[in-house]
Amino acid sequence: MKDKTVYIFWSGGWDSTFRMIQLSQMDITIQPLYVISECLYGKNENELIAMGKILEKIKLLKDFKATINPISFYKEKDIITQYFEQEVKNAYQFYHEKYKLGNQYTWFAMLAHHLNIKAELGIEKIIEGKIDKTFKEGKLIDIGENRLMFDLKKSPKELVSLFDYAIFPIYHYSKLDIRSVCEQNGWMDIMELTWFCHKPIKGKPCGLCNPCRDAMKEGMGYRLPFEAKLRYYWYNNKIREFLRKIFSPLLTFLKNKQK
Ligand SMILES: [Zn+2]
Repeated sequence: MKDKTVYIFWSGGWDSTFRMIQLSQMDITIQPLYVISECLYGKNENELIAMGKILEKIKLLKDFKATINPISFYKEKDIITQYFEQEVKNAYQFYHEKYKLGNQYTWFAMLAHHLNIKAELGIEKIIEGKIDKTFKEGKLIDIGENRLMFDLKKSPKELVSLFDYAIFPIYHYSKLDIRSVCEQNGWMDIMELTWFCHKPIKGKPCGLCNPCRDAMKEGMGYRLPFEAKLRYYWYNNKIREFLRKIFSPLLTFLKNKQK
């Protein structure tokens, strides 16, 4: 019986897509939520295109079991005008100043409070990342199947305001763990469709925004086009390293030829 509905904030990115795939294998109803941000760079469009392709592929998986409801869309602008909560904003500012926490968590909290739901946030563990530093201030408890929530009594009020609704189902995974689970299950072709860039240039990853830089640092640079890698190395003063990488096969080839 599909009497269980799981709400999930799905962005079409690596982490939340991984959770979408996991959920798709369960006998449940999935209600994806998507917040349209005030972004001029075409981030939303690229994410939504990716999500359309991902959904098609998820439905073809041999263990696909869930019912996936149509995505519910909300606008960032509407959330912060209609469902505004000063406490949530203060809590966000506190952790933003301290650890550079992203502002999407304000919209998610205000929306979840308004809808009166608990919702999953697909966040992986990056040791010493901004989330890790923020989360360490509170106490996470396992509510079953490795899904974590903050202990509302033993966590500071700022964390409670921002994350009281949130279930973290994949916080015990690192990016590499996720990759190996996906490889074992044959999900990598779906994961390759995920979108990560916040400021795409002509519809392609930019190489400059935080997620692009993370992709480069975490060994996923193959997902960026040549121009984006060039931008990354150029702006990070790593151009010499980049040139060496490009030309070293050529130099080795020429050296071997001379011998
Ligand atoms: Zn980017």
